[in-house]
Amino acid sequence: MLTNRSKVVVKKEMNFWERIYLPAILGGIVITIKHLFRRSATVRYPEKKREISAIWRGQHVLKRDDIGAERCTACGLCAVACPAEAITMIAAERKKGEENLYREEKYASTYEINMLRCIFCGLCEEACPKEAIFLTDRIIETDYGRKGFVFGKDKLVEPVDQRVDVSKRQTPAVLEFKQHKQLTHNK
Ligand code: SF4
Ligand code: SF4
Repeated sequence: MLTNRSKVVVKKEMNFWERIYLPAILGGIVITIKHLFRRSATVRYPEKKREISAIWRGQHVLKRDDIGAERCTACGLCAVACPAEAITMIAAERKKGEENLYREEKYASTYEINMLRCIFCGLCEEACPKEAIFLTDRIIETDYGRKGFVFGKDKLVEPVDQRVDVSKRQTPAVLEFKQHKQLTHNK
């Protein structure tokens, strides 16, 4: 015995009422009925959604600039900052004539986030010098297989005609923080 916390269990003889189980069953029914009148702890998701914080950290978005070019320059800083090692990418060189597709000379030809590894800490967003990646208030959809949770550019880059609003992430506190001299790279 490593500790003295163990208890000797005594097998107590059941009395008449305990043997017929009726009081225990009635007690259970009373508890069930009480719960019928209490506020439900669950919601009927996805028909009904809980209110979430304005700066909820959900599904990432890879942003485009004003003319629709991808902002990501495949520098890899987000992947280095990621504590869960959830981000992988392959860099490629922009060719002549692709200036409207990619903002910088280098871009990510492949960019993947494994949502099963991601802990939604937001460090990738903070590390990005190009304001290319943001977390949004979108919830990751469920899937039956693991592969479905590896999000590629098809799911991460915002469509040109359906931009994802990330202004909520730019709270006054965040904007003030970005004014710091050492963070001018974030402009
Ligand atoms: S939110 Fe955190 S864990 Fe998820 S990809 Fe970004 S840095 Fe990695
Ligand atoms: S830190 Fe930003 S620019 Fe660099 S690879 Fe990540 S998303 Fe792209």
